[in-house]
Formats: sequence, structure tokens, C-alpha cells
Amino acid sequence: MKKEKQTNSVEAAIGDLGGTTGLGKIKVPGKQEELTPAEQASLDDFISRSNSKIQFSKPEEPEYINNAPKTIDINQGWVPIDRTLMGTRSLFYPESYSFRVRQASVSDIKNWSSIDEKNLSQVNDALNDIMQQCVAIYDNGEKKSWEYINSWDRFWFLLKVREITFANGNYNVEFTDTCSECDHDLVFRVESGALDFEFPDDEIIEEYWDAEKRVWVIDPAEYGVDEEPINLYVPTLGKDAAILRWATQKYQESGKRPNEVFLKYLPWLLNKAPKDDKVLDKFIKNCKARYDSWDMNMFGFMDSVLPKVTITPSTKLKQCCPYCGEEVTSNLDFPDGLKHLFFVQGKYTRFGEKRSGSK
Ligand SMILES: [Zn+2]
Repeated sequence: MKKEKQTNSVEAAIGDLGGTTGLGKIKVPGKQEELTPAEQASLDDFISRSNSKIQFSKPEEPEYINNAPKTIDINQGWVPIDRTLMGTRSLFYPESYSFRVRQASVSDIKNWSSIDEKNLSQVNDALNDIMQQCVAIYDNGEKKSWEYINSWDRFWFLLKVREITFANGNYNVEFTDTCSECDHDLVFRVESGALDFEFPDDEIIEEYWDAEKRVWVIDPAEYGVDEEPINLYVPTLGKDAAILRWATQKYQESGKRPNEVFLKYLPWLLNKAPKDDKVLDKFIKNCKARYDSWDMNMFGFMDSVLPKVTITPSTKLKQCCPYCGEEVTSNLDFPDGLKHLFFVQGKYTRFGEKRSGSK
């Protein structure tokens, strides 16, 4: 079935939208065409491993932190984001951060319109371009790079930008699914507020998340595993991009992909993503040494830790069914493809379809 296929490919792409393990396609300039189908399949697998095991989970509402940027840029189209809308995800940013988004420009939309959504690398780049152009972070009024956006928030910010871009027109992206509780047909709207995330348990956050240092501090000894305490840092878009850069370089040098299991842990082990490739390589080597030192017991322990501290990016939408009142979810679907999130079908004048009055 056609629809089935499209959903699958979109899910594969979404697996990379703010995932902790999906890094986007390893780009090998000038070499891409030479990959055999088996190599391509292997690369695609590496890129798109999705970590989604989504359940319904209601975000808590932390206190709204009012720290508006010092620069008044609202008149330049930058709209402040209320952090309470992020729910639990807000806890994983410093309190001093505030966020703004602006409309996608004509040039942003032109670029977006050219994405080939089967090409995960292009999707990855296009998403980051929108983050760079349309999302601003301020730290006590000081502007910071988009790279400090946590990986799992990327798609949410994308939809925020979309909502502001089309605030004055009815260009909703919607699809129909059946209510799992009462079998009525329901319209699901693709919007930021409907994204469904899976969060770590409150008790786990309370006990192990150091909000001040912004790091998970886990002591394996508490669980009878003879290892030093370990720090796990929240994956960010900047680290994802740096790791992708590093992995691509390694692939170009050796023709071998870096160890995939290690790549899963790397965004958590890596504290910073330096711009300098040599420094980055050194940092990653340190992480690799730490990872290599784990015995099976420690590895097994870490394997149980990671899913417990991860916020799983959404591949589902939720809503309260107007017929039965139950909170129900549906798999996220883009009926017209990702491209039409910004390049809205039917919005622009088409050749061959003259408007009445202009004849
Ligand atoms: Zn229902």
C-alpha cells in the first residue's frame, strides 16, 4: 500500500529528527554514487535506527522562568516562546535560557522545498538550517548558538516556526485516523502542542539529574557495579553535528564506519563539541577509552540507564477524543510529505490555473 510505505519512510526520517542515535547520513563527497546497494543499506541502517518506544505521558508544568532577552527584537519578527509549553523538557535547559522563534523567510522556504525526504542527510541539514535561521537562544540576554538546542526538541521547534510562519493562514497539516477507544474517525493536526514525548520518571530525574551542572550523575556502585560515577550529558544538536562530522571523517579515512554502539553512547559521554577537529577527536578518544573500559556488567548496567534518562522524540500525536473523552494517539503522518510543512500545497499561484478575474 502506498500510504503504508510513505508512513514508513517518514518514520525513518523522524527517527532522526532529534533522535539520540540517529545522526543523519554520513556524507562522503564525491563518493556517494559509488556505494553498492549493500553499503547504502548498511549506511541507511546506521543513520535511521530509531529509538522510539513512545507511550502517552503528560508533561509536567515547571515554573515559568521569565528572563526576556535584553535586546528588544520582537519588531524584527522574533517571538518569545513560553517555556512552560515545553513541559518537562524545559528542565533540561539552564534556567537562564529563553527562546525565540521567527517566521521562515522566503529563502528558508525555497531551500526547504528542495529537500528529498528519502535522503536523511538532506532532511538533517534542512532541519538544522531552519533551527539556525529561525530559532534563537538567549542566555541571560546573551545570544547563543542554535547548537545548544537539545536533540529531542528539534522537531518541536520546527513546528513552532511553522506555526508562526503560517499564523495568518489556515494551512494546517492534518490527517485522519480512527480513535482507538471508540472507533470514531478523528482528525489529527500536526502541531507542536500535539507532539507526544516519553519522559524519564520523576523519581529518576529528582535523584540523578543535577540541574545546576546540567548533567545526569549516575553511580554504578549504588547498584553493585564496581565503577566510578559516570556523567551523562544531554545530547544537543551541536554535539550531533560534531559527531556526524567526526564519523564522516573517520569513514572517509578508513572506509569503515565507527562502532555503532559507541555512537549511541557518544552524545551522552561527550561534554562539549569543540569546533576544532583535533580537539574534538581528542575528546572523543577519551570517551572511547571510557567506553572501552566497561566490562559486560557495566555495559549491561549502562544499557539499562540510557533509556531511563532519554526523552524520546515523538513519532506520535495525541489529542483528547471529542467523542469518548479519552486521550488517544496516532502515528505522526505527513499526508503530503515533509516538504509541504513549509512549502504549502495550494498556497502559491500555479501555472495553468488562472485565477478568476484575471482571464
Ligand atoms: Zn474516541
